[in-house]
Amino acid sequence: MDENNPNRSRRMVLGGMAGGLLAGAVAPAVAQSPGNGMATAAAAPLTNPVNAYPRPPFPSQQQPWPGLASRMNPRPDHGETSYKGSGRLRGRKALITGGDSGIGRAAAIAYAREGADVAINYLPAEEEDAREVAALIRAEGRKAVTIPGDIKDEAFCKRLVEESARLLGGLDILVNNAARQVSQDSILDITTEQFDETFKTNVYAMFWITKAAIPLMKPGATIINTSSVNAYDPSENIIDYASTKGAIMIFTKGLAKQLAAKGIRVNAVAPGPFWTPLQVTGGQPPEKLPSFGKDTPMGRPGQPAELAGVYVLLASAESSFATGQVYGAVGGNGGP
Ligand code: NAD
Ligand code: MG
Repeated sequence: MDENNPNRSRRMVLGGMAGGLLAGAVAPAVAQSPGNGMATAAAAPLTNPVNAYPRPPFPSQQQPWPGLASRMNPRPDHGETSYKGSGRLRGRKALITGGDSGIGRAAAIAYAREGADVAINYLPAEEEDAREVAALIRAEGRKAVTIPGDIKDEAFCKRLVEESARLLGGLDILVNNAARQVSQDSILDITTEQFDETFKTNVYAMFWITKAAIPLMKPGATIINTSSVNAYDPSENIIDYASTKGAIMIFTKGLAKQLAAKGIRVNAVAPGPFWTPLQVTGGQPPEKLPSFGKDTPMGRPGQPAELAGVYVLLASAESSFATGQVYGAVGGNGGP
């Protein structure tokens, strides 16, 4: 938080005063007009999104890929203590790839708090993060299924979907979220192996998993793919990754048209910079990590918790006329 920002301190004092006055002045009027679904309690204080979460500079840090959220400093906020559900996904069955950490974990926690049973996929090296997520899902009284394995393998992708559906008792929500991102300043340093690995993880696995999932899905089911601001405004140091994110965006729009008549909606989320293990394991040049997110108009990266609501909205029937759409959350830069 930017404790040295005088505007912030002043705003916080004024915000606190306004909140206090509001509570006294408005509460009786609200209490007299119940019945329209509005809460009768005083309004929650407004939160300034600019200062709501950690801002750069961040401590220098690197982990071997794929990394653990639990070893990041500061620890990402996936909504562990903040996300409050209201039954929006009651009884739904969801599979989330990369559900152990970062954006996928925020979706997993939110889905469980909204009443869904959740299967997560991740790599065996991420077991520690995955266990934390499974415990959080079970704490909501929901079923948690953990299926580690490498989605670069087509046969595994098929098994992953089948096992998830079998153990959950169906499949209503698929979130294709896992990804590989390796920063290289020059195209000359991107090996064929890296290019292949990035496309296999980000594009082929989405294709294989989606293909296996569709025959198991009923009308009302939803598919949500994680694209990126890089699909629209690519960073120069991750052109292979950015190309996969463009492919995901187009795949989403095309498949949405194909599946609309079946009642299966397909949408994508396009995050800007988010504070996750992807970034501290080679996704960003190590020397640039301390200033990660500084160049957004908000001056900070997003925290995974700030995307949870978008994944919930796209999974729920509340967005029933939205398909083939890309929802951005980028702190003000670029985006769909
Ligand atoms: P993350 O590291 O927490 O999640 C990525 C996950 O991908 C890992 O947890 C891992 O489980 C999974 N994964 C990678 N390779 C795999 C493989 N071969 N087999 C199985 N699982 C594999 O990072 P994140 O930032 O939360 O990433 C989630 C999604 O968000 C990705 O699609 C990423 O491209 C996208 N995204 C992230 C940012 C950002 O700034 N963090 C910005 C835009 C888009
Ligand atoms: Mg992870």
